[in-house]
Amino acid sequence: MNAAGAGAGSGTSTKASWVRAVPDEAAVAALAAIFVQHVQTPLVIFLNGDLGAGKTTFARAFLRALGYRGYVKSPSYGLLESYRAGGMAILHLDLYRIEDPEELDYLAIRDLYDAETVLLVEWPEKGLHHLPRPDLELSFDEVNEAHTITCFAKSTAGIAASNKILRDF
Ligand code: ADP
Ligand code: MG
Repeated sequence: MNAAGAGAGSGTSTKASWVRAVPDEAAVAALAAIFVQHVQTPLVIFLNGDLGAGKTTFARAFLRALGYRGYVKSPSYGLLESYRAGGMAILHLDLYRIEDPEELDYLAIRDLYDAETVLLVEWPEKGLHHLPRPDLELSFDEVNEAHTITCFAKSTAGIAASNKILRDF
C-alpha cells in the first residue's frame, strides 16, 4: 500500500526523525493541529510507548484537530474505534489486550482500510504481520515528568509528511 517510488527524498533536506517536547495536553493539541494539515491518506501511524505515555491523548487530539466533536474513547476494550472527520476515515486501534495477533484478522483491518484512511495503532507490536506497514512511528516518552513525542518516518509518504510537520514547528 505504500506508494512505490523508493527514491524517497532525493538527498535534499530530508530528516528521518525529530523529537518534540509536549509538556501538556495543549502542546499535544498544537502538534496534532500541524499533523492534520500535512496528512495525506492513506497513512498508517504506529503509536509506541508505555501505558500512560500519551498515545490515546494524541489520537484524541488528532481527531479534534480534524474537527471531530464527539466523544473519543480509548479503544483498549473495544480494540477498534472508527470515525469520519475532515474528509477522512480514521481507524483507531489499541492492541494492548489482544493475546494473539491472529485476532486482528477477525477485525478485517485490510477491508476497512482504504485510500481515505488514517490508521492509528496503539501497541502495534502485538499485531505484527497482521497490520499494514507504518508510514510514521511516533514514540511517546516521559522522563522526569517531561513528555516528548519522537517521530520516525518509515516510508516515502511518511518522510514527506514528517518533513512538512517539522517545517511548521
Ligand atoms: P496511553 O494511551 O499511552 O496509555 P493516555 O493518552 O491515556 O496514555 O495518557 C495518560 C494520561 O497522561 C492522561 O491522563 C493524559 O491526560 C496524560 N497525558 C498524556 N499526554 C500528556 C502530555 N503530553 N503532557 C501531560 N500529560 C499528558
Ligand atoms: Mg491508550
